[in-house]
Amino acid sequence: AIRAGVVVTGTEVLTGRVADRNGPWLAEKLRELGVDIGHVVVVGDRPDDLESALDFLAGTGVALVITSGGLGPTADDLTEQIVGDWQGRPSAVDPALEQRIGTIVERLMARRGWRADPEATAAGVRKQALVPAGATVLEPVGTAPGLVVPPADGRTGPTVLVLPGPPAELQGMWAAAVATEPVQRALAGRAELRQETLRLWGTLESQLAATLRDHDAELGGLEITTCLRDGELEIVTRYAPPEQAAYERLTAAVEADFGDTLFSRGPTLDDLVADAFADRGLTVATAESCTGGLLAARLTERPGSSAWVLGGVTAYANSAKEELLDVPAEVLAAHGAVSPEVAAALAEGARARFGADVGVGITGIAGPDGGTADKPVGTVHLCVAGPDGRQAKSLRLPGSRSAVRARSVVMAMHLLRV
Ligand code: ATP
Ligand code: MG
Repeated sequence: AIRAGVVVTGTEVLTGRVADRNGPWLAEKLRELGVDIGHVVVVGDRPDDLESALDFLAGTGVALVITSGGLGPTADDLTEQIVGDWQGRPSAVDPALEQRIGTIVERLMARRGWRADPEATAAGVRKQALVPAGATVLEPVGTAPGLVVPPADGRTGPTVLVLPGPPAELQGMWAAAVATEPVQRALAGRAELRQETLRLWGTLESQLAATLRDHDAELGGLEITTCLRDGELEIVTRYAPPEQAAYERLTAAVEADFGDTLFSRGPTLDDLVADAFADRGLTVATAESCTGGLLAARLTERPGSSAWVLGGVTAYANSAKEELLDVPAEVLAAHGAVSPEVAAALAEGARARFGADVGVGITGIAGPDGGTADKPVGTVHLCVAGPDGRQAKSLRLPGSRSAVRARSVVMAMHLLRV
């Protein structure tokens, strides 16, 4: 298989002040291209560390290295120079590129109403227009150009694709970078791979592992990774097209052992919920207590959700439950705010007040305080009220406050998908 590696640069990423978004994004894109990725290396803004990362990845036999970051106008942005030296290609200013970047920077400053020392600006632009001899320039999305730098003539080793750090710039340049001749050459001969995802809800990873072990011999050519997230178990399989039959054996084995918890052969939970409402032409409204609007946020995160999401209320205090959602005071007094009765009243209240086909009510104790002997932290009651009646669920969820809230939302999504 053709292999690639990634070097993410930036002291802010190394120290965690900025969470790395480029390594995972590039890893996924490379996988989609059928390129194998073994390492994402994170280094600070120190020339020696970038150099040794390049040495290390070259030693793993990769055909392509992708770097992110360090292309700005400041003195600590050194990626272009280090990569050029490493490939044996000395840098020089590309005058046409210098002009184009100069124009971009001028426009940027004018639009933002910034004023700057022209000399400092010119020096920054000149630095960003440095190009290793013979490298291919990728037009800037922000101000920094990308670069494709193959080894100098007579040398061997990986081609290095140099991309800017800001994720929007890196992503905006990706398609053009892949299309360049040197990158195509580096990745030539890669095999087409298919990727499929099975999704289970309510199955332990250890049980799945046992099933995979039992069928080990029949699943030869499959690359299977499992991931447990908010109670959902994802099985991601990659395989070359001739291994189709092995993938079908995997699907059959999972279905046989976990048929009741296998809820999707591809689409995400959010896809399934959106499709369920779009297909039936129904609308939804939410009434949330312990989840504080997280369900409404999740539903409306999706573009186009305005077609079926009418709105939601975060009703935290009892008075809000009574006044905004018509939860009867007697029900609150008799059963307490955290009860199946109040979850149902919240769902019906949301349905009636918004004029929605379906109402969702969530009430619970997210913790860490506020639990009692009969209603411990993690007690959550959900209700979905719709044209076909009510579906209710009562849970005792483990974990932290944020875990309880997140799992409650996932449970609500599962009630909404059917
Ligand atoms: P610029 O011309 O914008 O300075 P650059 O290539 O020099 O581009 P960096 O200086 O490395 O980019 O990073 C600029 C900013 O982009 C960082 O401060 C950070 O906010 C964001 N950024 C950089 N790398 C990453 C990353 N791996 N993940 C998420 N954000 C990042
Ligand atoms: Mg920088």
